[in-house]
Amino acid sequence: MTAQILVVDDVPANIKLLEAKLASEYYDVIPARDGFEAIKEAKAHKPDLILLDIMMPGMDGFETCRKIKEDAELSHIPVVMVTALSEKSDRLKGLESGADDFLSKPINDMALFARVRSLVRIKTLLDELRLRDKTSTEMGIQTGENNLFVSDVSGACILLVEDDNVQGKQIVERLSKTYAVEWIQDPEQAPARAAEANFDAILISTLLTDVDGLRLASQIKSHEQTRAVPILVFVDEDDQRLMLKALEMGINDYLPVPVDKNELTARVRTQIRRKKYQEALKSNYQKSISMAITDGLTGLYNRHYLGTHLGNMVKQALKNGKHLALMIMDMDHFKDVNDAYGHDAGDLVLKQLADLIIHASRSTDLAARFGGEEFVMLMPETDPQAAVGAGNRMRDIVESAVFKINAGGETIKKTVSIGIASLHPDGDSGEGLLKRADEALYAAKHNGRNQVKVAPGAVPKGW
Ligand code: GH3
Ligand code: MG
Ligand code: MG
Repeated sequence: MTAQILVVDDVPANIKLLEAKLASEYYDVIPARDGFEAIKEAKAHKPDLILLDIMMPGMDGFETCRKIKEDAELSHIPVVMVTALSEKSDRLKGLESGADDFLSKPINDMALFARVRSLVRIKTLLDELRLRDKTSTEMGIQTGENNLFVSDVSGACILLVEDDNVQGKQIVERLSKTYAVEWIQDPEQAPARAAEANFDAILISTLLTDVDGLRLASQIKSHEQTRAVPILVFVDEDDQRLMLKALEMGINDYLPVPVDKNELTARVRTQIRRKKYQEALKSNYQKSISMAITDGLTGLYNRHYLGTHLGNMVKQALKNGKHLALMIMDMDHFKDVNDAYGHDAGDLVLKQLADLIIHASRSTDLAARFGGEEFVMLMPETDPQAAVGAGNRMRDIVESAVFKINAGGETIKKTVSIGIASLHPDGDSGEGLLKRADEALYAAKHNGRNQVKVAPGAVPKGW
């Protein structure tokens, strides 16, 4: 995996050293000598990871990190603080400024690569989601919150897997101030519980009596439903090997035992924020998909979607030798509604007509808004006779309905004209089907409206 890493340090020799290490694993290094340059380079290159020295003249690492994390363009880029300080208060200060992790100088190669790989992996996933988000925004189908990184994560749900009573109590006590914590003391129950509830983070001890905590974590990671849930493990503070193994396995983070309460709070928060960010990107994407295929006023599928889906349904019906019928309906003298009561009243009537159509359709039918006051219903496995029956019923439903034209309860009566066409079994197309239905609709209008017409020649002899 190649990735671009921004290395920030005021001592050129330190940059050279890191550059040599990273280049040996084929990472590209962008150097920066202070916080200001770091932000400039980060904006220019959007690196996959930032290794940030803490003690620098001018703007120190804490301040630089805070600025990066406050910037909507940069906040998703992971930051690892590189420090000669091992003071807990400094680590905490770093986490509070938004750093994702720490490395102590002199840098241990194994520790460096384990973190780089683990953070770049997450960054790659976020990039994929961010790209989709960008595409949707460019297509104009999204209003797009520009910084989805939330800072308030209170109320998030955490699962704690810990069989040590004393440590378990302390962790619950600490985290319960901010989160809803569920504590499982029997590790065997953890995977099932994790799968049935949507936790925002899972904390697992690797010092469990009967169970291998890392194995448990990897089991949870490999499940479809729990794959995206961040997992943090508690590891004995002297067990470097296990810490690295955890990161290699894709565990999101670890906490040395005995657990420092402030570090616990900060690391859990970082993981939850990232998960929420990922979720926000995903849900934005889903929203944009549904906006792209549905009509905003009525909630029915739009013309674009119908066009694509119609082609597929025609192919499938021809292949399987099944019937397929298409009904197109158009409200009669709809323009009069707008003219007499205003555009909003017109909208309200269209919305109600769409509701009637949805209500009258079967679950396999596909209803779409074809244009202004024209709607299409695609009816699979419906023979021509049944299609005419459906058309007559629809016409009847509309004629019997009353349409509200304002909130005050004033109503009007309206009718529709309907054209119907059925698929030719010996070769046909979506366009052909639509065109014949439209011609039938035209005939219905021409013949006096409020009626159903069937496209001539739609059904060949013998059907
Ligand atoms: P016909 O019986 O021949 O179908 O007559 P009509 O008045 O229903 O048809 P026409 O095509 O002349 O007019 C359709 C009108 O629908 C014109 C257009 O302004 C209006 N319209 C199209 N889309 C919308 C919409 O989303 N909301 C509202 N309120 N009106 C719309
Ligand atoms: Mg009309
Ligand atoms: Mg019309």
